[in-house]
Amino acid sequence: MSAAATLAPGAQAEQLAPLRGFVRGIAALADRGAPEELFLSEGATLLRRLVADDRWLPDTHAAPDPEHYRQYRLYLDPAGRFSVVSFVWGPGQRTPVHDHTVWGLVGVLRGTEIVENYERRSDGLRLTGSERLPAGAIDAVSPTIGDIHRVSNAFDDRVTISIHVYGADIGKVRRSTYDPDGSSREFVSGYAEAPPLSLWND
Ligand code: FE
Repeated sequence: MSAAATLAPGAQAEQLAPLRGFVRGIAALADRGAPEELFLSEGATLLRRLVADDRWLPDTHAAPDPEHYRQYRLYLDPAGRFSVVSFVWGPGQRTPVHDHTVWGLVGVLRGTEIVENYERRSDGLRLTGSERLPAGAIDAVSPTIGDIHRVSNAFDDRVTISIHVYGADIGKVRRSTYDPDGSSREFVSGYAEAPPLSLWND
């Protein structure tokens, strides 16, 4: 049982102060009507700060599933302008090749991710590069800068967790997974079950 799950809402809000600061920063960008490149640049600075210390993430939103990677919702902007999630890979787990259709930032909180980036061409998918992202590293996706990738836990003996922010309620976005021949299948990710977080004191 997570410490956070047994805390009164006020105490949980205190534990979640780093996440709250991050959400306020992203909301301020949205209030200013920031263009995508500003979300990606200033958001990366905010996200780097958020993942510099991993003690704020409640265990309820850090638990792996034995079979599949999981995505927990940490925060949804009331106007639906952005969402923040924790992405949890059990040992050896990986995503299919997929897209996002909106801008997104990834900050590795624990463990290490391997990201493979793809381009869709008329003759199929082409691998354009791959990167190893240790804790503290930041990555970005969007239809304008490159939106198709596969993400794997670099470890087969421990959990990897990253914190993501997207320019939409990502659990509801119609997206696609891709086969090597370039054919695609639509999916809507949804979110893993977890108690809602009390980010605010009121
Ligand atoms: Fe992704």
